[in-house]
Amino acid sequence: LAQTIEYDGNPAVHLILDDVTEQKSMADKAKLNELKLYHQDRLTSLGVMAAGIAHELNQPLNTIRVITDGFLFGREQGWDLDLDELFESLEMVSRQVIRMTEVIQNVRDFSREDRDRPLHDVVANHAFNNVFLMIGRQLEAHGIEVHKDFAVGLPPVRADLHRLEQVIMNLLVNARQALDRCSRERKKIRVSTSVKDGLIRIEVSDNATGIPDDIREKIFQPFFTTKEAGMGTGLGLSICQSIVNEFCGHFEVRNNEMGGATFAVVAPVGRLA
Ligand code: ADP
Repeated sequence: LAQTIEYDGNPAVHLILDDVTEQKSMADKAKLNELKLYHQDRLTSLGVMAAGIAHELNQPLNTIRVITDGFLFGREQGWDLDLDELFESLEMVSRQVIRMTEVIQNVRDFSREDRDRPLHDVVANHAFNNVFLMIGRQLEAHGIEVHKDFAVGLPPVRADLHRLEQVIMNLLVNARQALDRCSRERKKIRVSTSVKDGLIRIEVSDNATGIPDDIREKIFQPFFTTKEAGMGTGLGLSICQSIVNEFCGHFEVRNNEMGGATFAVVAPVGRLA
């Protein structure tokens, strides 16, 4: 703030200066803390993903092993090599390798630092498919039936594909953990995408126990968790919410008719739609 005044009969300038060093260092610290939390949660979801990847890679590796062992066993037994059979088997091996490459590519994309990436038009169905490539088999291994109901020709949302995948991954892992802890005979996760009145709706539902009324308000708060130590940081949903807000969207949560929880991400249809 500056103003001209008179001092001792002479014209002078009166300046008021604010020392903002402390404020700035506090803002820097807050930013640093936020980043640390972000990385911490990222590591947790990477850990969950590592377990998923092990499942995903196991099956193609087993298939390759069975095929190659079969030929090696044949050689030991002195069998004639049937070239047609060999090429058919090589094709199968090649398909398995492509599948593994896809899984690895997805993991690479997912773990890339992408916080400041610009937004694009993203079709939610693709995000779901990529996430299921990473943890689909893991859900199966946990005895969970997955029902998919994706809208055909779904318009895009203005988002970042990998951040949207992170949100979906988080919701699916939460649903899986809730199902792991409940004693339902048929454990189900239902996912769906739809569009209505210019809004895209992305839903993940489970038939676990739902969310008790007294904690419904708290679940998006950072560090709020009902899970035992090591199972949850309580940061998942708060980070999901900030990501969804970046896409100009919001969350809706309800207990559903299956007795479990439904998390819906609602966001406006993208620009090019
Ligand atoms: P965390 O998973 O680390 O606990 P989140 O922020 O992802 O952190 O979730 C916060 C809390 O919300 C969970 O501890 C749990 O109580 C509740 N919650 C989230 N998803 C579900 C779900 N599908 N069913 C029941 N409760 C859930």
